[in-house]
Amino acid sequence: MKFVYEECVDYTSFTAIPENDKERHGLRAQGPYAPISLKDDTLIVKYVSKNTLHPDIVAAICITAFYPFIHSSATMPFPVSKRFADGLQMDILPQHGKVDGVYRATEPITIDNININLEPYTGGSNTVIAYGGGMDSTAIACLFPDYDLIHSTDIDNKDTTVREFVEDNLENKIHIIESNCKYLATPTGFTTFTNIYITPLIMCADLDVKNIMCGAIMGATCLSNGTKYFPQFDPTRRNRWERFYNHIGLCMFSPTSGCSELITSKIICKHNLQHKVIYCDCNNGKPCNKCTKCLRKQLELAYHGVDIKFDSFEKHFITNFLKKRPLYFGHIFIETINNLIKRYSIPKCEFDENSEVTADDEVNEWYYGKDGSKQEQEEIREKILNIFLYLGDAISDVRHIETSLFNNIYAKSFQYFPDDIKDHIIERLSSVATIMSPDEEQYLEKWDITLKPVSVVENTTAIKQVETESQCSSANESTFGLIVVSDDEESISHSEVEVDLESEVDLESEVDLESEVDLESEVDLESEVDLESEVKSEVKTEVEAEVEIESEVDLESEVDLEVEIEVEAEVEAEVEAEVEAEVEAEVEAEVEAEVEAEVEAEMEAEVEAEMEAEVEAEVEAEVETEVETEVETEVETEVETEVETESKLQNEQIDLMTELRYLREENARIKINSNTIRNYLLQIFQLIECDTDAIASVLNSSM
Ligand SMILES: [Zn+2]
Repeated sequence: MKFVYEECVDYTSFTAIPENDKERHGLRAQGPYAPISLKDDTLIVKYVSKNTLHPDIVAAICITAFYPFIHSSATMPFPVSKRFADGLQMDILPQHGKVDGVYRATEPITIDNININLEPYTGGSNTVIAYGGGMDSTAIACLFPDYDLIHSTDIDNKDTTVREFVEDNLENKIHIIESNCKYLATPTGFTTFTNIYITPLIMCADLDVKNIMCGAIMGATCLSNGTKYFPQFDPTRRNRWERFYNHIGLCMFSPTSGCSELITSKIICKHNLQHKVIYCDCNNGKPCNKCTKCLRKQLELAYHGVDIKFDSFEKHFITNFLKKRPLYFGHIFIETINNLIKRYSIPKCEFDENSEVTADDEVNEWYYGKDGSKQEQEEIREKILNIFLYLGDAISDVRHIETSLFNNIYAKSFQYFPDDIKDHIIERLSSVATIMSPDEEQYLEKWDITLKPVSVVENTTAIKQVETESQCSSANESTFGLIVVSDDEESISHSEVEVDLESEVDLESEVDLESEVDLESEVDLESEVDLESEVKSEVKTEVEAEVEIESEVDLESEVDLEVEIEVEAEVEAEVEAEVEAEVEAEVEAEVEAEVEAEVEAEMEAEVEAEMEAEVEAEVEAEVETEVETEVETEVETEVETEVETESKLQNEQIDLMTELRYLREENARIKINSNTIRNYLLQIFQLIECDTDAIASVLNSSM
């Protein structure tokens, strides 16, 4: 791929010129790694740097925007430093591809124009915040009011919601930069989750940037969306993109990578932004109060004492979501729902002067405020409690799991904080939450709700599969009102799910305890064990072959024992990486299946409505037929006595026949309409990349 850089009056362009046919296609570098094609070869960013950008920064923008399409060398707009080129080798950020259906590192990207005399980018001294506008990055803005916010938006986006929110509520200075990065590929969307860094990168020289903060939270960085611990803070396991930016002289990190959403939502409440923060924009830029993201965020706010009625959520939809295992962001749902049930279960009438509860004026006031009739308040409380109770029922199998530690900060996350501001960040975080104890850290590092809970023994449990939160599509992505998968900053590292030896052992002991598990979970568990052992044996065979080759080489070159040990370690790491990748693919497939299932459910509902209409029409037709028969009989009898009226009745009969024909035609028309609707639906699903064959077969069987 060749790249051309151009500065115009009010924008900068980065053009990619493919050098072969392969360079028009690739995989989106974020789960579920869907195939994409290059649609627009020019990245436009509506900003022109006043100071000259370092060639490495220009090249970093090209890589960030067009990474999926580079196979397997690149000529950058300006010759880059040797260090930059090294960052695209196998150990940091090589190209990825699907091997046996698994997204994994495949080959290095070679840079054709290196200037060995060029000093690498050494960065400035400032810190900026890549600001998404949601609850987590707003919490970071609140903690660090001195740092500028850089927010990316679509070209010609006239929506001023984010700017107004920041100007009205935050002290930070905001830069909103327009770019077309979402529209380079088809289907549209980010080419990698790091597209949020394009605008901070182009402002690097003018703002003297050294550090770029993003708003990733613990659930995304090291908890695989709440399902299983991932050792993100082991530098060899760190996200490859973060390693790449670090390597070229910038520090990309999240100050809240060791904080759960319980902490970021607490910061929002402390700054009195609970009713203003934008965590979902499905309802004309405002929270829709219907999607599962709204549910989670509102449970967090209620957890911190915000009055929320929860009466606009659709019971069937959210309980279905909460019943899926492993529970997406389980640590948050378990902690908030348990706590809220406890809190809302205390009726006012039971408060008496001598009880412990009444002594707590704060609780009293929290319940009833200063005014409002007690009975009214009591009714509202019971209504909300009933909602929490059915949420609790939906997670009854995991409710016993200890989750209070997620109110505290995981200190291992501090190690990626840049040295120059490390103390400052820790001081700011410590002002809102305490640091986890060693016991809590240990408990966190064993967190695994991917296996079904097995008796009591330990609170942590274990299965495998990550489920993606469904949420409304934002207006510029789709106008069909269908459910789409969220690809926001939360996905920063959930792509890296690991299987370690420990979980292997867990799994074995799970099998021992099988008798305690019900039949259904037995089957689940068995297939999981099968899958895991299948994957492991496959990888082992591969690795064994590699080891053989390695040892041959060893014999020939008489490498000493030390080298052998190193090779072993490397092979081990490889095994882990491969197993990880395999599991990732499985997880992806399952996520896809979930999304499909949801889409299907919606479609089924629509089709059902159609069917109902059809059935009604049919019933009408039947009734008509019956009437007709009756009339015929009548006519027969009457013909005997009143011959005169015969012709009249015949006419009537003809009319009825016409009517019947009309109804039959109408019936056929409805059938045609439903077929048309079915075809439209299939086209829509094709657009949003669903498995249309599967959907078509479901449709065909139900119509
Ligand atoms: Zn919503």
